[in-house]
Amino acid sequence: MSEPLLIPCPSCNGLNRIPAERLADQPKCGRCKSAVLLNKPFDLKQGDYASQIKGDLPLLVDVWAEWCGPCKSFAPVFEQAAAQLAGKCRLAKLDSEAHQQLSAQLGIRSIPSLILFKNGKEVARQSGAFPLPQLMAWLRSQGI
Ligand SMILES: [Zn+2]
Repeated sequence: MSEPLLIPCPSCNGLNRIPAERLADQPKCGRCKSAVLLNKPFDLKQGDYASQIKGDLPLLVDVWAEWCGPCKSFAPVFEQAAAQLAGKCRLAKLDSEAHQQLSAQLGIRSIPSLILFKNGKEVARQSGAFPLPQLMAWLRSQGI
């Protein structure tokens, strides 16, 4: 048996221990019983940030805003990436208008912006929307 992975629940921020061999079995959160691993992006809120960047799976955050055209055209690409990366990387969307304080804390200067976190730390960042193959290639270059 391998060491279980620590994965925060996207619904309640509870930290779950999930054996690697169970990642594909749609594990449920021990606290709130919601799905821990999603095949689509979840919304990252100010109060969730500190909990959600933790854990053994990387977190990719798409910073966007309602008024941003490129953000909207990038949204379906991000959703496709979430479906392809289920169990490998967690994907979240940060609404920079609704959560201005967190956007400022992250030093967001332009949107869309992508920020990759591993083990609670930012490891890479990209600005601008790009097509799915480029997004996946960038993530592969980051070891995902
Ligand atoms: Zn939960």
